[in-house]
Amino acid sequence: MDDTSSTAEPTARAEPCVFLDSRRGCAKGDQCRFSHLPCSQDGITRPRKARRQRMKECILQCFLSTDFDQMQEALQKEARRHPYARRVIQGYLNNASFIHFDKDDAGEFAVISV
Ligand SMILES: [Zn+2]
Repeated sequence: MDDTSSTAEPTARAEPCVFLDSRRGCAKGDQCRFSHLPCSQDGITRPRKARRQRMKECILQCFLSTDFDQMQEALQKEARRHPYARRVIQGYLNNASFIHFDKDDAGEFAVISV
């Protein structure tokens, strides 16, 4: 049990990982710096249509990143901005057939094919 050495940022808040709730899960596993503890999605309000549309566009932009870490950072930022974004991200991860995850030497990344 020497896993205490990895807590370099003890002040960092445990922000739930955006991939956690999706069916494919988080590719980073134990390496993920976001929280993998289950979080409640109760009481999340659905924003107005215009806001949802903008949210979806932002989230799709995030998926265009070829760097997995960058993509996750961008998605986490969206989720931080509005809790509903987490549901949108989850929906894409679970259902969007145009989002694939691929791997290269640098790790896993998302590929969009329309
Ligand atoms: Zn994660």
